Amino acid sequence: MLSSDVVNGFASPVGPVVVRESPGIKQFGRILRLPTPTGYDFGDINSYAILPESGSDQLVLIDTGVGRDKCWQGLVDGLAQFGYGIEDIDLLLLTHGHVDHFGQGARIKQVSGCEVWGHEAIAASVTRYLPSEEQIIHEKAFFKTLGLNDEMYDRAYNYREHVKKVFKPCPLDHHLQDSDMIPIEGFALQAIHTPGHCPEELVFWQAETRQMFSGDHLLTDITPVCLLHIPKPLEQERNHALTEYYQSTDKVYPYEIDAVYPAHGDVIHDHRALIDGYKLSTERRLLKISKILQKHGSLTPLGVGQQLFPKAWENMLYAVVSEVMGHLDMLADAGFAEISERQGVLYYVSTGEPGPGEVFEALGDVLAV
Ligand SMILES: [Zn+2]
Repeated sequence: MLSSDVVNGFASPVGPVVVRESPGIKQFGRILRLPTPTGYDFGDINSYAILPESGSDQLVLIDTGVGRDKCWQGLVDGLAQFGYGIEDIDLLLLTHGHVDHFGQGARIKQVSGCEVWGHEAIAASVTRYLPSEEQIIHEKAFFKTLGLNDEMYDRAYNYREHVKKVFKPCPLDHHLQDSDMIPIEGFALQAIHTPGHCPEELVFWQAETRQMFSGDHLLTDITPVCLLHIPKPLEQERNHALTEYYQSTDKVYPYEIDAVYPAHGDVIHDHRALIDGYKLSTERRLLKISKILQKHGSLTPLGVGQQLFPKAWENMLYAVVSEVMGHLDMLADAGFAEISERQGVLYYVSTGEPGPGEVFEALGDVLAV
């Protein structure tokens, strides 16, 4: 998931729309990249097939594309070019529970009888989409603490109606955990849990050939949005998604990787340069938010979002709130902001401007996992 506008149900980090030329169908050894259209601004999502070892017929697919007929056809046509059909798939691996990644899962399983594997935390997002009435009341109460009223809540989640149309439940057959091995003949993969973009994100690592399937954890040219998660119950500690994201990049950084295959965009060959670039852009945004807080004295998260994205905030509220909270969490955790509460609403105050690298340095112990 990437750039602006609504993306598989979740708006993304606010910025210029990046409409990339699709990298197209391509074979990399046993890996087959199969892009299918999403219908969103950013274009295609890449599914990857792992072709069987000679003498075997074990065909594995990673991620599925959106649950629309033309995406189905894209996958069928792509596999057919290499002499395979959907019915040949033995195992479907899901990087995470967003509809462009699992949307065709149920149909693929129905046709092929394959098993579907993903992280244990994925179950809620692949089986149920619309929240219960009780959950909506809960979410509205949480949004109020960030400065958003009920009307803003409705706007923040208006994409749900759209996603509902393509949502098809896809229950898992097997739950993966961090470090689990996935037995694929001659191409064993290891699941690495990389929360941040969402709590259940997995990347898959092929040690012998030094290749990685990164889902939405690492994306070509674009910083993945780290989606805000609402604690249940409200008193529970909330995950700091952007901090979690950098814990996950720190986990992946040391790997000696020759090629990273992302869910959107072309192959990445230097994942360390990519992660370094993500950190620089995060540092720039941290500084900008710090200056906004200094100028205004005290602001709610919504107030920060309005200053940070004066044009986009109204139409991209979920993305804006996710982005702002991720950065405010880092500033507060690193000692560069303080939080106070007035009538149930959170206000942030700057306690000093972070210099280059200072926030990441201050979070060193948190980030080292
Ligand atoms: Zn995603």
